[in-house]
Amino acid sequence: MTKITRRQFAGLFGSAGIACLGSDTVLGQSPGISVNRGAKARVVIVGGGPGGGTLSHILRRGSPEIDVTLIEPNRLYTTCFFSNLYLGGLRTLDSITHSYEGLTSIGVNQITQRASAVDPGKKVVQLDDGSAVSYDKLVLSPGIDFKLDEIEGLTEKDFDIFPHAYRGGDQSRLLFSQLRAMPDGGTVVIAPPPNPYRCPPGPYERTCMIAHYLKQYKPRSKIVLVDPKMSFAKQALFLQAFEKYYPGMIDVHLTNEIDNQQVVRVDRTTRMVETAAGMKIKADVANVIPPQRAAPIALKSGCAEGDWCPVKPGNFASTIVPDIYVIGDSSMAGDMPKSAFSANSQSKSVSNHIESIFAGKPSYPARYRNTCWSSVAPNDSVKVGAGYTEKDGRVTKRFAFVSEVDEDAKTRSDSFKESLGWYAGIVAETFNKRVEKI
Ligand SMILES: Cc1cc2nc3c(=O)[nH]c(=O)nc-3n(C[C@H](O)[C@H](O)[C@H](O)COP(=O)(O)OP(=O)(O)OC[C@H]3O[C@@H](n4cnc5c(N)ncnc54)[C@H](O)[C@@H]3O)c2cc1C
Repeated sequence: MTKITRRQFAGLFGSAGIACLGSDTVLGQSPGISVNRGAKARVVIVGGGPGGGTLSHILRRGSPEIDVTLIEPNRLYTTCFFSNLYLGGLRTLDSITHSYEGLTSIGVNQITQRASAVDPGKKVVQLDDGSAVSYDKLVLSPGIDFKLDEIEGLTEKDFDIFPHAYRGGDQSRLLFSQLRAMPDGGTVVIAPPPNPYRCPPGPYERTCMIAHYLKQYKPRSKIVLVDPKMSFAKQALFLQAFEKYYPGMIDVHLTNEIDNQQVVRVDRTTRMVETAAGMKIKADVANVIPPQRAAPIALKSGCAEGDWCPVKPGNFASTIVPDIYVIGDSSMAGDMPKSAFSANSQSKSVSNHIESIFAGKPSYPARYRNTCWSSVAPNDSVKVGAGYTEKDGRVTKRFAFVSEVDEDAKTRSDSFKESLGWYAGIVAETFNKRVEKI
């Protein structure tokens, strides 16, 4: 790994005379491909979630000759996946919080800082402390940001009153503490975002899990779901679960041709939530999940087109900036949804591509997978999933499956058990950590 000081970085960025960082970085035989001669190839990964964590792990294990650096500002990562079960009172936050020790133990260099800028010309990532790191290949997996300008009255500071709980950890804790403090008979507003957004079934699993909590501890309370969409993921399955497990507790307001139920205004003093259709709801707890876009560092890197980053379907290389890959939620991934499973799957294709470049090996055709399990009640999970491949210049679905309405209890219980296995597996891959019990 090469770390550059603030002064060196300023010099490099300001100096037109220096064409390339690191004298060991030269152009390889294939046009446009950078390779190292006589030094370790350097792969820098920004973001230690299921995209970046998995890639760090498998690249390090599969190719010890590559120098792998993970830039991630936090020492602990709390998964969004399974965080709805925490809101349902079925898991602790501790059980879904993981450190990066498993990655550093195998030789991944973790830099506990935020990346603040990328200079693709010099192939350098600048860090918050003013230093910088050079790369041969850069992989961005920084997740999402919120488009707060689309909701009047909502700024970052208002997340204390309106927790989105859509970037794990403290926000989930806050939302749960608000639910606990709410009076029995109170109103919880859940406002999912418009497409595209992270984890399409997430808000509806959350509705079930919050309803599960309220049913036990505050049974006179209600949930109002105001949704900017006309339909949502696994809709028939969720609507059936609302009726079966939480009858009379959940009011669903979807958008139709006339009424747009997107939240456009909030008021922190009254906790009022207002939709474009003019519906005003006084909430005791308001979980407004704002519209989304790629994380700021992905947008600033020059890899974005609009809100997201377009990528080559065979390997998730940026279509715009050479030597940068974008995986996970920040990418524009064709038919694939924004999910941890998708990010994990995409990281394997990137690893394969990078290894093939540095080792001169053939790369394999990309095959991607995703499955999203949702808990609708304890021991009752539904799932939707698909396999994808590169076709017609995009990531295209090649088969799909979804749980059926009216499945028997054993099938649902088996789906729940599968989700436990998946959780243990993705944590093992992302953090090189064994999950004893989830
Ligand atoms: C309630 C909920 C439930 C979910 N359930 C599921 C599920 O059951 N299954 C599933 O597959 N998916 C689920 N998801 C979706 C899943 O959490 C995301 O799709 C996944 O985390 C995306 O991974 P990522 O690596 O792209 O980004 P992230 O997981 O967001 O990781 C990004 C990392 O990058 C870091 N970062 C950001 N900016 C910078 C920077 N400038 N410099 C350095 N580091 C930076 C962040 O600190 C973060 O650690 C759920 C999401 C939610 C909200």
